[in-house]
Order: sequence, then structure tokens, then C-alpha cells
Amino acid sequence: MKNSIFVLIVLMSTCLSVQAQVKTDPDRKTDWWGDIDGFLNQQAKVSLSLVNEALIANPPSLQENMARKMALVMIDNVLHEEKAQHRPAVQAFYRERIENAIREIGTLQVESGAVIWKLYNHTFIVKTPSVTIGFDIQRGIPGNESFAFSKDLIKSLIDVTDVLFVTHYHGDHADDWVAGTFIEQNKPVITPPGLWEKLPVYKSVLHPERTVDKLQTVNLPLKKKDLKVVVCPGHQGNNILNNVYLVYSPEGMCFAHTGDQSNTEDLNWIDTIGDRYKIDVIMINSWSYYPGMRLAKGFRPRLIIPGHENELNHTIDHREPYWLNYVRLGDDPSFPWVQMATGERFHYIIPAE
Ligand SMILES: [Zn+2]
Ligand SMILES: [Zn+2]
Repeated sequence: MKNSIFVLIVLMSTCLSVQAQVKTDPDRKTDWWGDIDGFLNQQAKVSLSLVNEALIANPPSLQENMARKMALVMIDNVLHEEKAQHRPAVQAFYRERIENAIREIGTLQVESGAVIWKLYNHTFIVKTPSVTIGFDIQRGIPGNESFAFSKDLIKSLIDVTDVLFVTHYHGDHADDWVAGTFIEQNKPVITPPGLWEKLPVYKSVLHPERTVDKLQTVNLPLKKKDLKVVVCPGHQGNNILNNVYLVYSPEGMCFAHTGDQSNTEDLNWIDTIGDRYKIDVIMINSWSYYPGMRLAKGFRPRLIIPGHENELNHTIDHREPYWLNYVRLGDDPSFPWVQMATGERFHYIIPAE
């Protein structure tokens, strides 16, 4: 009798603990009453897992199908929620996609044209057959350690990147640890004047003249190659110096990055920049199209890639969504553009003349 009671107790407690385990596995949980944060995290996880599947099956392309558009708008929906940057499911989505992209950047051999990766926010990496160029590399959201990309991870990106161009001082673009690591590796860092002025790294950073009138040279000592660059004197608002870079790869392709360009007076040089320089790809902050497609008409690039979507430290109204790119950039075939999600890559092939 004693024995059977003991067996019964053991059985009951096993059942209870199995039940408890089922309850703690969020993927099998069947109701979320009383746990709003848990519910929203799980909803984000389910949504972003479908997003991942849809993006892999439908990579970036000039012609987007319905599944891809829905995946991008689903990202907007998950991320337009006040606490999005604190949700573990959102953090895992970014971390996994960026880890995957960095692995690809290190291993993918580029035979022709250029492969372009978009990482968090406005970080872009351009790899050509001879060089790998980084723009606005940073480690995530300053002050949110659980969102940040680890130093080990970003160092593995720096290890395979030859040069860093930083557009302006804001923390979603500029990261002095990243710049210092490039410089430790004897790789050039280019910024506007004044950024990190009080830090030891300042004397090692290059500050080419901000002018549309000159092609300047940046030497890559490890590669024994030169890059030709134009440092356009852009601004964010009236006062923030924002370098808009045109960077020529040794193969002669030209890649432009606008940082957070937004200043009407700069249209003076934007309107005519395409007369002087032939630009292959421009990576724009998504709100800098200027009414009437004036930015595209000025730069006349062969391809536009909008960036800076869903910066999670921005308030929701300025957390630029993918869906607004369809409104802003439209569908005029004379201004082709490609929409990219974080972690994706796009192979740019120079079109036949
Ligand atoms: Zn900014
Ligand atoms: Zn920004």
C-alpha cells in the first residue's frame, strides 16, 4: 500500500512538472492571459520567423512579389511598437541576420560588379573583386546592452573590411570603438571634422576637404591600393556636418552614401552632382529623396538603395518604415531602386551601356 502511494505521488509530481514545462515553453503555450509582454514577444517571434522564410525565398529584386512586400511590411508592423528594441524576439532577429551577413561578407568571393549588404540601420558594406568598403558601421542602439551587437561580432566584420566612412556624429552612425579598431588594424577611417575631437583616435582619423570640386585619394596601406573619393559638404538640418561620400572602387564603380542628409540649401550642389560624377549606386537615408525625386535627379545613380529604416531608437513617427519607401520612391523606371531588409545582400552588376 505504502509503495503504491509512493508511486502515485511520483507519477503525479512527474505529470505536474511536465505540465509546468509545457507552460514554460512559449512555442507550445496556448493562452497568454495576464502576460502582455510575453504575448507581444511571442507574436513578434512568430511574425519574424515567417519574415525570415519569406525573405530567403524572395531575395531583393527590382521587381518585388507580394510575398516579399508582405514580409517587409510585417517587419514594419512588428517594429512599430514602443518597446520593440527590448523584445528578445526582435533582438534575436537582428543578431542572427547580422551574424549571417558578416559570415557572408568574409567568405563570399565577388567576381564582378559589387555585392552590397545592409546591416543595422544605415550600415552598408560594399564588396567588389578588390576591396570591401564600410559605411556608418556601429554596434546597435547606444545604451541598450541587450540589443547591442557584441564587440567580437563587429570585430569580425572589421577584420574583413578595408576602410570605414562615417557620415556624421550621431550614435546610430558613428561608433568610436569601431573607428579605433579600424585604426588599430592600420585601416583608414574618414569622418567630418570635429567628430571625436577630444578622443585620442582623432589624430588618426582622416578629414578630407568637404567639397564637390575635388576627387581626393584615400590610401589603403594593407591593400596597396587607392580609392578616389568625393566628400560632398552635406548637412543634417542647418548645423550638423554630414559628409555625403562618393567612393570609387579600384574597378571604377562609384558608390554614394548620404548619411542623414536633410538640408534644402544643399540642393545647390545636389542638383548638379550627377553632371560631374557618374554614380552607380546611392544608399540614401529613406527620407532624403526630396520632393519631386530631386535627390535622384541630381545624383542620377544607376540604382538607389534606401536605408535607415526602422531605427528603433527613434520615436515611431520617425522610425521610417519600408512601406513609405513605396510612396517616396514610386515606380518610375528611370529611377530604379531596391528595397533591402537588414542582413540581406544584393549583387549589383554594371548594366551594359
Ligand atoms: Zn543623424
Ligand atoms: Zn540617423
